[in-house]
Amino acid sequence: MSNLDLTPTLTTCGGLADVAPLPVAEVFTGREVLLGEATNVRRLLPNLGRRMVGPWCFVDHYGPDDIADAAGMQVPPHPHIGLQTVSWLLSGEVRHRDSLGSDQVLTPGTLGLMTSGHGISHAEHSPVTHPRFLHGVQLWVALPDGVRTAGPSWEFHEHLPAFSDAGMSATVVMGELAGERSPGKAYSPIVGADIVLDAGADVALPLEREFEHGVLMMSGDADIEGTELSVGSMIYLGCGRRQLRLRTSSPARLMLLGGEPFGEKIVMWWNFVGRSDEEITLARDQWEANAARFGDVRGAGNRLSAPELPPGRLLPGGSAR
Ligand code: MN
Repeated sequence: MSNLDLTPTLTTCGGLADVAPLPVAEVFTGREVLLGEATNVRRLLPNLGRRMVGPWCFVDHYGPDDIADAAGMQVPPHPHIGLQTVSWLLSGEVRHRDSLGSDQVLTPGTLGLMTSGHGISHAEHSPVTHPRFLHGVQLWVALPDGVRTAGPSWEFHEHLPAFSDAGMSATVVMGELAGERSPGKAYSPIVGADIVLDAGADVALPLEREFEHGVLMMSGDADIEGTELSVGSMIYLGCGRRQLRLRTSSPARLMLLGGEPFGEKIVMWWNFVGRSDEEITLARDQWEANAARFGDVRGAGNRLSAPELPPGRLLPGGSAR
Protein backbone atom coordinates (compact mmCIF):
# COMPACT_ATOMS: atom_id res chain seq x y z
CA MET A 1 0.00 0.00 0.00
CA SER A 2 1.02 3.54 -0.52
CA ASN A 3 0.64 6.88 1.00
CA LEU A 4 -1.58 8.38 -1.72
CA ASP A 5 -2.21 11.58 0.16
CA LEU A 6 -2.10 14.37 -2.43
CA THR A 7 -0.61 16.84 0.00
CA PRO A 8 1.62 14.83 2.31
CA THR A 9 3.44 16.72 4.99
CA LEU A 10 7.04 16.29 5.97
CA THR A 11 7.34 14.50 9.26
CA THR A 12 10.39 14.31 11.47
CA CYS A 13 10.39 11.57 14.04
CA GLY A 14 12.53 9.03 15.79
CA GLY A 15 15.14 9.97 18.31
CA LEU A 16 14.84 9.17 21.98
CA ALA A 17 13.34 12.49 23.06
CA ASP A 18 9.80 11.30 22.27
CA VAL A 19 10.05 7.91 23.92
CA ALA A 20 8.11 7.43 27.15
CA PRO A 21 10.66 5.57 29.33
CA LEU A 22 7.97 4.35 31.72
CA PRO A 23 4.49 2.91 31.16
CA VAL A 24 1.93 5.37 29.83
CA ALA A 25 -1.49 4.95 28.21
CA GLU A 26 -2.12 7.31 25.28
CA VAL A 27 -5.18 6.46 23.21
CA PHE A 28 -5.63 7.86 19.73
CA THR A 29 -8.01 7.27 16.87
CA GLY A 30 -7.23 6.99 13.19
CA ARG A 31 -7.45 9.77 10.64
CA GLU A 32 -9.52 8.84 7.58
CA VAL A 33 -7.44 8.86 4.40
CA LEU A 34 -8.67 7.94 0.92
CA LEU A 35 -6.29 5.48 -0.66
CA GLY A 36 -6.48 5.33 -4.45
CA GLU A 37 -9.98 5.52 -5.87
CA ALA A 38 -12.05 3.63 -3.37
CA THR A 39 -10.26 2.36 -0.29
CA ASN A 40 -10.69 4.35 2.91
CA VAL A 41 -8.07 3.69 5.53
CA ARG A 42 -7.64 4.80 9.12
CA ARG A 43 -4.13 6.15 9.63
CA LEU A 44 -2.97 5.67 13.22
CA LEU A 45 0.71 6.51 12.74
CA PRO A 46 2.13 9.02 12.28
CA ASN A 47 -0.26 11.36 14.05
CA LEU A 48 0.10 14.68 15.78
CA GLY A 49 0.91 13.23 19.17
CA ARG A 50 2.83 10.09 18.35
CA ARG A 51 5.05 9.35 15.39
CA MET A 52 6.71 6.00 16.11
CA VAL A 53 6.46 2.92 18.30
CA GLY A 54 9.89 1.29 18.27
CA PRO A 55 10.84 1.16 14.57
CA TRP A 56 7.16 1.11 13.47
CA CYS A 57 6.59 4.45 11.74
CA PHE A 58 3.35 4.00 9.76
CA VAL A 59 0.13 2.20 10.63
CA ASP A 60 -2.89 2.01 8.33
CA HIS A 61 -5.97 -0.06 9.19
CA TYR A 62 -8.62 -0.68 6.51
CA GLY A 63 -11.92 -2.51 6.37
CA PRO A 64 -13.68 -4.76 6.74
CA ASP A 65 -15.09 -3.38 3.48
CA ASP A 66 -17.69 -5.14 1.33
CA ILE A 67 -16.09 -5.06 -2.13
CA ALA A 68 -18.34 -7.66 -3.76
CA ASP A 69 -19.38 -5.16 -6.44
CA ALA A 70 -16.25 -3.02 -6.39
CA ALA A 71 -12.69 -3.15 -7.68
CA GLY A 72 -11.32 -3.11 -4.15
CA MET A 73 -7.75 -2.04 -3.57
CA GLN A 74 -6.27 -0.21 -6.56
CA VAL A 75 -2.81 1.13 -5.73
CA PRO A 76 -0.70 1.80 -8.84
CA PRO A 77 3.10 1.45 -8.99
CA HIS A 78 4.82 3.76 -6.52
CA PRO A 79 8.28 3.93 -4.92
CA HIS A 80 9.70 3.41 -1.44
CA ILE A 81 13.04 4.06 0.25
CA GLY A 82 14.38 3.48 3.75
CA LEU A 83 11.60 1.25 5.09
CA GLN A 84 10.00 -2.18 5.16
CA THR A 85 6.33 -2.66 4.34
CA VAL A 86 4.50 -5.29 6.36
CA SER A 87 1.27 -6.39 4.68
CA TRP A 88 -1.14 -8.37 6.85
CA LEU A 89 -4.68 -9.39 5.96
CA LEU A 90 -7.56 -10.45 8.16
CA SER A 91 -9.94 -10.97 5.21
CA GLY A 92 -9.62 -10.91 1.45
CA GLU A 93 -6.73 -11.00 -0.99
CA VAL A 94 -4.20 -8.49 -2.30
CA ARG A 95 -1.93 -9.05 -5.29
CA HIS A 96 1.55 -7.63 -4.78
CA ARG A 97 3.82 -6.93 -7.74
CA ASP A 98 7.19 -5.18 -7.51
CA SER A 99 10.20 -4.04 -9.51
CA LEU A 100 12.13 -7.19 -8.54
CA GLY A 101 9.61 -9.20 -10.55
CA SER A 102 7.72 -10.54 -7.53
CA ASP A 103 4.07 -11.37 -8.17
CA GLN A 104 2.26 -12.77 -5.15
CA VAL A 105 -1.31 -12.94 -3.93
CA LEU A 106 -1.43 -12.32 -0.19
CA THR A 107 -4.11 -14.06 1.86
CA PRO A 108 -5.03 -13.96 5.56
CA GLY A 109 -2.28 -15.48 7.68
CA THR A 110 0.48 -14.91 5.13
CA LEU A 111 3.13 -12.22 5.53
CA GLY A 112 4.25 -9.99 2.69
CA LEU A 113 7.44 -8.25 3.76
CA MET A 114 9.11 -5.82 1.38
CA THR A 115 12.44 -4.27 2.27
CA SER A 116 12.89 -1.20 0.13
CA GLY A 117 16.46 -0.38 1.08
CA HIS A 118 17.82 2.15 -1.42
CA GLY A 119 14.82 1.88 -3.73
CA ILE A 120 11.99 -0.32 -4.97
CA SER A 121 8.58 0.17 -6.51
CA HIS A 122 5.45 -1.93 -6.15
CA ALA A 123 1.74 -2.09 -6.87
CA GLU A 124 -1.11 -3.58 -4.84
CA HIS A 125 -4.45 -4.60 -6.30
CA SER A 126 -7.41 -6.68 -5.30
CA PRO A 127 -7.47 -9.58 -7.78
CA VAL A 128 -10.18 -9.21 -10.44
CA THR A 129 -12.08 -12.08 -8.84
CA HIS A 130 -11.84 -11.55 -5.11
CA PRO A 131 -13.52 -12.45 -1.82
CA ARG A 132 -16.37 -10.24 -0.66
CA PHE A 133 -14.60 -8.62 2.30
CA LEU A 134 -11.28 -6.81 2.52
CA HIS A 135 -9.77 -6.18 5.94
CA GLY A 136 -6.14 -5.64 6.84
CA VAL A 137 -3.28 -3.49 7.99
CA GLN A 138 -0.36 -1.92 6.22
CA LEU A 139 2.61 -1.18 8.44
CA TRP A 140 5.98 0.40 7.82
CA VAL A 141 9.20 -0.28 9.72
CA ALA A 142 11.99 2.30 9.54
CA LEU A 143 15.33 0.81 8.50
CA PRO A 144 18.46 1.72 10.45
CA ASP A 145 21.55 3.28 8.88
CA GLY A 146 23.68 0.68 7.12
CA VAL A 147 20.63 -1.24 5.92
CA ARG A 148 18.51 1.54 4.53
CA THR A 149 20.86 2.10 1.60
CA ALA A 150 21.28 -1.61 0.77
CA GLY A 151 19.48 -3.45 -2.03
CA PRO A 152 15.75 -4.17 -1.95
CA SER A 153 14.17 -7.54 -1.26
CA TRP A 154 10.78 -9.24 -1.08
CA GLU A 155 9.81 -12.02 1.32
CA PHE A 156 6.63 -14.05 1.43
CA HIS A 157 5.98 -16.26 4.45
CA GLU A 158 3.10 -18.70 4.44
CA HIS A 159 3.79 -20.19 7.84
CA LEU A 160 4.30 -18.04 10.91
CA PRO A 161 4.81 -19.21 14.49
CA ALA A 162 1.74 -19.17 16.67
CA PHE A 163 0.86 -20.00 20.25
CA SER A 164 -2.25 -20.04 22.35
CA ASP A 165 -3.47 -19.78 25.89
CA ALA A 166 -6.93 -19.98 27.45
CA GLY A 167 -9.12 -17.70 25.32
CA MET A 168 -6.21 -16.34 23.26
CA SER A 169 -4.25 -17.24 20.18
CA ALA A 170 -1.31 -15.25 18.83
CA THR A 171 0.60 -15.21 15.53
CA VAL A 172 4.06 -13.69 15.54
CA VAL A 173 4.26 -11.57 12.40
CA MET A 174 7.57 -9.78 13.07
CA GLY A 175 10.28 -10.26 15.66
CA GLU A 176 9.77 -12.36 18.75
CA LEU A 177 7.07 -12.88 21.35
CA ALA A 178 6.88 -15.46 24.15
CA GLY A 179 9.87 -17.30 22.69
CA GLU A 180 8.38 -17.62 19.20
CA ARG A 181 10.22 -15.91 16.36
CA SER A 182 8.89 -14.78 12.98
CA PRO A 183 10.89 -15.81 9.89
CA GLY A 184 10.46 -12.26 8.55
CA LYS A 185 13.84 -10.53 8.35
CA ALA A 186 14.07 -7.64 10.82
CA TYR A 187 16.89 -5.13 11.16
CA SER A 188 16.31 -3.84 14.67
CA PRO A 189 14.73 -5.44 17.77
CA ILE A 190 11.00 -5.56 17.08
CA VAL A 191 7.72 -7.29 17.80
CA GLY A 192 4.52 -7.44 15.78
CA ALA A 193 1.84 -9.98 16.68
CA ASP A 194 -1.76 -10.61 15.71
CA ILE A 195 -3.74 -11.57 18.81
CA VAL A 196 -7.21 -13.10 18.77
CA LEU A 197 -9.19 -12.94 22.01
CA ASP A 198 -12.25 -15.06 22.71
CA ALA A 199 -15.17 -13.74 24.74
CA GLY A 200 -14.20 -13.77 28.40
CA ALA A 201 -10.45 -13.83 27.78
CA ASP A 202 -8.16 -12.62 30.56
CA VAL A 203 -4.54 -13.18 29.58
CA ALA A 204 -1.09 -11.71 30.12
CA LEU A 205 1.59 -11.71 27.44
CA PRO A 206 5.28 -11.35 28.33
CA LEU A 207 6.88 -8.16 27.01
CA GLU A 208 10.45 -6.96 26.55
CA ARG A 209 10.84 -4.36 29.26
CA GLU A 210 13.19 -2.20 27.16
CA PHE A 211 10.78 -2.04 24.22
CA GLU A 212 8.22 0.61 23.44
CA HIS A 213 4.80 -0.95 22.82
CA GLY A 214 1.47 -0.07 21.32
CA VAL A 215 -1.74 -1.91 20.48
CA LEU A 216 -3.99 -1.43 17.45
CA MET A 217 -7.55 -2.73 17.89
CA MET A 218 -8.47 -4.40 14.60
CA SER A 219 -11.91 -5.70 15.58
CA GLY A 220 -14.11 -5.64 18.66
CA ASP A 221 -12.92 -3.94 21.81
CA ALA A 222 -10.93 -4.98 24.84
CA ASP A 223 -9.37 -3.81 28.06
CA ILE A 224 -5.67 -3.17 27.47
CA GLU A 225 -3.81 -2.83 30.75
CA GLY A 226 -6.84 -1.19 32.32
CA THR A 227 -7.80 1.03 29.36
CA GLU A 228 -10.82 0.22 27.21
CA LEU A 229 -9.81 0.31 23.54
CA SER A 230 -12.32 0.16 20.69
CA VAL A 231 -11.96 -0.95 17.10
CA GLY A 232 -9.92 1.38 14.90
CA SER A 233 -8.12 2.94 17.88
CA MET A 234 -4.57 2.55 19.07
CA ILE A 235 -2.95 2.84 22.47
CA TYR A 236 0.67 3.82 23.08
CA LEU A 237 2.00 2.09 26.18
CA GLY A 238 5.55 3.49 26.51
CA CYS A 239 8.47 1.40 27.77
CA GLY A 240 9.09 -0.44 31.02
CA ARG A 241 6.36 -3.08 30.90
CA ARG A 242 7.08 -6.73 31.62
CA GLN A 243 3.65 -7.92 30.59
CA LEU A 244 0.53 -6.95 28.73
CA ARG A 245 -2.77 -7.86 30.33
CA LEU A 246 -5.67 -8.23 27.91
CA ARG A 247 -9.30 -8.72 28.96
CA THR A 248 -12.50 -8.80 26.98
CA SER A 249 -16.11 -9.87 27.38
CA SER A 250 -16.64 -10.24 23.62
CA PRO A 251 -14.45 -11.49 20.75
CA ALA A 252 -11.69 -9.08 19.77
CA ARG A 253 -8.62 -9.00 17.58
CA LEU A 254 -5.64 -6.72 17.98
CA MET A 255 -2.12 -6.10 16.74
CA LEU A 256 0.67 -5.71 19.26
CA LEU A 257 3.43 -3.46 17.91
CA GLY A 258 6.69 -2.73 19.64
CA GLY A 259 10.42 -2.61 19.53
CA GLU A 260 13.56 -0.99 20.77
CA PRO A 261 13.13 2.79 20.66
CA PHE A 262 14.42 3.98 17.29
CA GLY A 263 17.35 6.24 18.13
CA GLU A 264 17.89 7.75 14.69
CA LYS A 265 15.99 10.83 13.65
CA ILE A 266 14.09 10.14 10.47
CA VAL A 267 12.38 12.28 7.88
CA MET A 268 9.19 10.91 6.35
CA TRP A 269 7.49 12.29 3.28
CA TRP A 270 5.05 10.51 0.95
CA ASN A 271 6.42 6.97 0.54
CA PHE A 272 9.96 7.80 1.59
CA VAL A 273 11.86 7.49 4.85
CA GLY A 274 15.23 9.26 4.89
CA ARG A 275 17.42 11.38 7.08
CA SER A 276 17.38 14.73 5.31
CA ASP A 277 15.41 17.02 3.08
CA GLU A 278 18.00 16.51 0.33
CA GLU A 279 17.60 12.74 0.34
CA ILE A 280 13.84 12.98 0.06
CA THR A 281 14.03 15.59 -2.71
CA LEU A 282 16.48 13.46 -4.68
CA ALA A 283 14.29 10.35 -4.35
CA ARG A 284 11.25 12.29 -5.52
CA ASP A 285 13.11 13.73 -8.53
CA GLN A 286 14.48 10.33 -9.48
CA TRP A 287 11.02 8.72 -9.33
CA GLU A 288 9.61 11.51 -11.49
CA ALA A 289 12.50 11.04 -13.96
CA ASN A 290 11.92 7.26 -14.22
CA ALA A 291 15.40 6.61 -12.81
CA ALA A 292 16.67 3.03 -12.69
CA ARG A 293 16.79 3.30 -8.90
CA PHE A 294 13.12 2.32 -8.62
CA GLY A 295 12.88 -0.12 -11.51
CA ASP A 296 9.63 -1.02 -13.18
CA VAL A 297 6.50 -2.88 -12.07
CA ARG A 298 5.53 -4.70 -15.25
CA GLY A 299 1.91 -4.99 -16.24
CA ALA A 300 0.53 -3.11 -13.23
CA GLY A 301 -0.67 0.03 -14.98
CA ASN A 302 0.46 3.63 -14.96
CA ARG A 303 2.88 4.82 -12.31
CA LEU A 304 1.70 7.09 -9.56
CA SER A 305 3.10 10.61 -9.82
CA ALA A 306 4.79 12.10 -6.78
CA PRO A 307 3.05 15.08 -5.21
CA GLU A 308 4.79 18.43 -4.96
CA LEU A 309 7.12 18.88 -2.04
CA PRO A 310 5.85 21.42 0.48
CA PRO A 311 7.49 24.85 0.40
CA GLY A 312 10.31 25.58 2.80
CA ARG A 313 12.95 23.27 4.10
CA LEU A 314 12.91 20.66 6.75
CA LEU A 315 15.39 21.10 9.53
CA PRO A 316 16.64 17.64 10.39
CA GLY A 317 16.78 16.73 14.04
CA GLY A 318 13.83 18.94 14.97
CA SER A 319 11.52 17.97 17.74
CA ALA A 320 8.84 15.54 16.68
CA ARG A 321 6.19 16.84 18.98
MN1 MN B 1 3.64 0.90 -0.87
